[in-house]
Amino acid sequence: VKDFGIEKTLKNLGIKEENKGTSVGGKYFASGKTIESFSPVDGKLIAKIKTSGESDYDKVIETAQKAFQEFRSIPAPKRGEIVRQLGQKLRTYKDDLGKLVSYEMGKSLQEGLGEVQEMIDICDFAVGVSRQLHGYTMHSERPGHRMYEQYHPLGVVGIITAFNFPVAVWAWNTALAWICGNVTIWKPSEKTPLCAIACQNIMSEVLKENNLAEGISSVLVADHEIGQKLVDDKRVSLVSFTGSTRVGRMVSSKVAERFGKSILELGGNNAIIISKDADIDMSIIGAVFGAVGTAGQRCTSTRRLIIHESVYNEVKTRLAKAYGQLKIGNPLDENNHVGPLIDVDAVNQYEEAIKKCKKEGGKFVVEGGVLSGKEYESGCYVKPCIAEVKNSYEIVQHETFAPILYLIKYKTLEEAIAIQNDVPQGLSSAIMTQNLREAELFLSHAGSDCGIANVNIGTSGAEIGGAFGGEKETGGGRESGSDVWKYYMRRQTNTINYTAQLPLAQGIKFDL
Ligand code: NAD
Repeated sequence: VKDFGIEKTLKNLGIKEENKGTSVGGKYFASGKTIESFSPVDGKLIAKIKTSGESDYDKVIETAQKAFQEFRSIPAPKRGEIVRQLGQKLRTYKDDLGKLVSYEMGKSLQEGLGEVQEMIDICDFAVGVSRQLHGYTMHSERPGHRMYEQYHPLGVVGIITAFNFPVAVWAWNTALAWICGNVTIWKPSEKTPLCAIACQNIMSEVLKENNLAEGISSVLVADHEIGQKLVDDKRVSLVSFTGSTRVGRMVSSKVAERFGKSILELGGNNAIIISKDADIDMSIIGAVFGAVGTAGQRCTSTRRLIIHESVYNEVKTRLAKAYGQLKIGNPLDENNHVGPLIDVDAVNQYEEAIKKCKKEGGKFVVEGGVLSGKEYESGCYVKPCIAEVKNSYEIVQHETFAPILYLIKYKTLEEAIAIQNDVPQGLSSAIMTQNLREAELFLSHAGSDCGIANVNIGTSGAEIGGAFGGEKETGGGRESGSDVWKYYMRRQTNTINYTAQLPLAQGIKFDL
């Protein structure tokens, strides 16, 4: 088995054999239990991490709160300069960080590098936004008065992330949170702790070089109990949560109970409608990439294809042929198309979903299965598979985080849109059509109910410039581009009277 230079990568990123999982800026400590990070690529132990314990938690929060007092006074464009420097560092570390993402999480090296590029892009974006944190100015109904809106920083922002985008989601949140004047505490997935330590090491260099407070960027590598503490803690003004709908539902109600703010980025159940007027070549590429990319472990992975009856058989046959050509193996080897699932638990869930699908009447066009033998020693490699189903099957209504693609037939576009919307989730959707009427109906108020709706591109691969997120059980949050920065600030309306009188609003008289 080729080595792919992992040892050197770990060294360059400051990952040791044993690491401490709590960090404020460049300072590391930890009082919790020790966990091990195994690569799903080859099953090998990458490194050990002593996790954050209860006693670390308060120290981190207090340091963060103190840092906030300092950081909020730095002018926003100067905070943008800090984020610009992070973007520069990420350019330097791109190859190493991309490789670590691939090795610890299992996505292809190209996707790992793509994830780091997204981090760089959001930094660039945030630098510009740091000069654009503007509100409206309104005309007052009272003479000699001026009204306007301002946005102020929130305070401590807690970021809880999923394993499948182990570095980009941190950057999506931090780049904006920081230009807005907040400090951040990150609770990464315990499945990808080393990616978090690597990011924190990179940011620590920036803080140190600028002589800034360490509490601006903190990390708590820990299990869900520490995540729960962040959720319940009223000192944490905003909790940005990316993960499953099951956990997100709890996060949502707990944060709301204490009147905190939350951003929820939860599960998807994304579909592509392939119309009778679709370009079939493009549809096949879009569908295969969307379904098997990152081994079906993107929140935007294509899970359902809703295909017009007139092209159904053609699409089915061509998909089966394309799946026959997929190479499954080490994701660091660019000859492979599909890497492993994150761990054996995920493999079990994949197998369980296939069983359930068959039990409900699903007919497999391409069979699944777990791979074993040479190069598959980690036990995490599975075959992407395709099943003909009904949208109403319980398993089809659920997000299974694995490369299982469901085919559904339709007659009219209205029916296709209804099927597309008839799931609890509402993240990403797409239509393949060259027919303007179909495309516009799909994008209209009567069309897709998702946060993302595309025409002639697949469901995955969003750009950072747009607001990213979804409706219904996907949680309603938005991250990344557009005016998403507003989520990271509190809004204030100001009225200034520049006269010597005090006229009251609504013409009320109050003579003394
Ligand atoms: P998960 O819900 O199991 O875990 C996510 C994070 O929540 C982890 O850091 C975990 O430690 C933490 N956590 C678990 N229980 C907690 C609790 N009680 N309190 C606080 N934190 C807790 O999700 P996962 O398996 O890591 O990721 C896969 C899921 O994430 C999928 O459903 C996927 O669709 C979703 N996801 C969504 C988006 C999006 O932008 N919509 C992006 C990536 C992933």
